Amino acid sequence: MHIETTSYWNKTATKTEYPKLEENIEVDTLIVGGGITGITCAYCLAQRGSQPVVIEAGGLCDGTTGNTTGKVTIQHGIIYSEIEKKYGMEYTKMYADSQSEALNFVRNVVAAEAIDCQLTDNTAYIFASDEKERLQIIEEYEIALRLGIPSEYFEKAKFPPGNHGLLGYKNQAVFHSVRYVEGIAKAVVAKGAKIYCSTKAIKVEDGDIKTITCENGITIRAKHLVQATQYPIYDGPNIFYARLYPKRAYGMAIDAKNDLHFDSYINVGEPSRSIRTHVENGKRILIVVGEGHTTARGEDDMEKHLDKLYDFADSFAGVNRVLAKWSAQDYNTPDKIPYIGRISDHSNVFIATGFKKWGLTSGTLAGNMIADMIATGNNQYEELYSRKRKDIITSIGTAISEVASSVYELVKSKFEPSESVKNLKQGEGRVIYFDGKSAGIYRDFENNITILNVSCEHMGTVLNFNNAEKTWDCPAHGGRYSSEGKLLEGPPKDSLKVLYKGKYSDLK
Ligand SMILES: Cc1cc2nc3c(=O)[nH]c(=O)nc-3n(C[C@H](O)[C@H](O)[C@H](O)COP(=O)(O)OP(=O)(O)OC[C@H]3O[C@@H](n4cnc5c(N)ncnc54)[C@H](O)[C@@H]3O)c2cc1C
Repeated sequence: MHIETTSYWNKTATKTEYPKLEENIEVDTLIVGGGITGITCAYCLAQRGSQPVVIEAGGLCDGTTGNTTGKVTIQHGIIYSEIEKKYGMEYTKMYADSQSEALNFVRNVVAAEAIDCQLTDNTAYIFASDEKERLQIIEEYEIALRLGIPSEYFEKAKFPPGNHGLLGYKNQAVFHSVRYVEGIAKAVVAKGAKIYCSTKAIKVEDGDIKTITCENGITIRAKHLVQATQYPIYDGPNIFYARLYPKRAYGMAIDAKNDLHFDSYINVGEPSRSIRTHVENGKRILIVVGEGHTTARGEDDMEKHLDKLYDFADSFAGVNRVLAKWSAQDYNTPDKIPYIGRISDHSNVFIATGFKKWGLTSGTLAGNMIADMIATGNNQYEELYSRKRKDIITSIGTAISEVASSVYELVKSKFEPSESVKNLKQGEGRVIYFDGKSAGIYRDFENNITILNVSCEHMGTVLNFNNAEKTWDCPAHGGRYSSEGKLLEGPPKDSLKVLYKGKYSDLK
């Protein structure tokens, strides 16, 4: 079954149409990516009198920013106790301070630019579902107190049902992410910067002046290149594919039967459950997000994930009506700290990625940090977020298993057995043998078939068909393609090669 997947934020925002770039240009700073990271960076540079150019492959907030939960908080799950164990208190404090600055930046910009994005203060809670998680929360609480984060701990509370203790950070916030980015984008343009949409970068040639080629052949020459694309389109010597792993999650907006007067909550463990409320036209609605998993690994049945979120919401809120359903992707790093900064020493190419589903503050921070580095040469948080930290070595647990499993998928996929096309149902996709090689076949609802080379353009991993979203997804590094082979997101640079197009009846 095909599920309509437009997020609540994209459904309810008025989106500005920005022009496509149609001529070659030369700029001081080119920012690629029109999500919260790219637009914040443009804003910070424009504030300093610079006139950067932003290019975006689709429309603003078409990426993860438009498909988020919308919590603007320094409560990032269990994080401070983990950073403290790996790197000590100095880095832990840097993380807390930098994320708090990002939260305050959002508050200040909303006030300064009069952005109507329903920014609302609340407490962000993390809750335990068993005794082991309760101990993790207590450890996190102790570090929070040492860091001076205004926080509170409860052994047990009435809400959420069945919790084994919860920790809350006060003075946090939620907002409507698309209205927020639309608001800053307007301010960016008013300050003289330029935004172009439907303009996709496909090639980067490095040098003192970088040359970026777009899909339509247009070139942009730039002194500084900011990659606000989540997965970098160009990573020089860094091999980021071995350090970033994609995580998918699902979201739902719900008109509920019960009273929804509560703050934001997220659980410690798996399956993930994150909730908040949002007020639209005087009515309070529920946002439920969760069921996170590594992209294209095993469970890409969107319907099942959404059913579980529905049951969870129904259990405490009572579902009247589902207003929107969606899914989205973000990237994790081995030590849960994003990469923000130069791709190599002295380079004027920047990255901002690995936000671990906390990019509304981390992306805001990245926009600020990179603008600072461009304008002044450095930033006080550079060291903590640098790609040079020894994260792979120090984070053996998650990192090595996730990275190794990416490599395993790459190797395993070369030997995956294929299936025949017999009994291929409408709306179904499979890996088959075609012309002696593995290929992907999709049968649409008009009985047309498309056969694609489904070796991912990034590193050759054989793609899995995602039945709910009708996409071909890469289990190794999160590249995603439409059923027609068009690149949707992730590290690959090109769409898939179409091997055959015709009618299903041609195959019999
Ligand atoms: C389900 C879910 C819930 C989340 N909830 C929260 C939350 O409550 N709080 C929080 O802090 N974080 C949350 N996050 C994370 C947060 O939403 C993201 O980290 C953040 O939005 C990333 O912003 P970005 O601007 O870096 O990337 P994106 O918003 O993905 O923007 C990148 C843009 O780059 C464009 N692009 C890519 N390649 C090219 C190219 N070659 N040329 C031109 N343009 C290109 C894309 O089209 C895209 O629009 C959540 C994430 C998920 C998946």
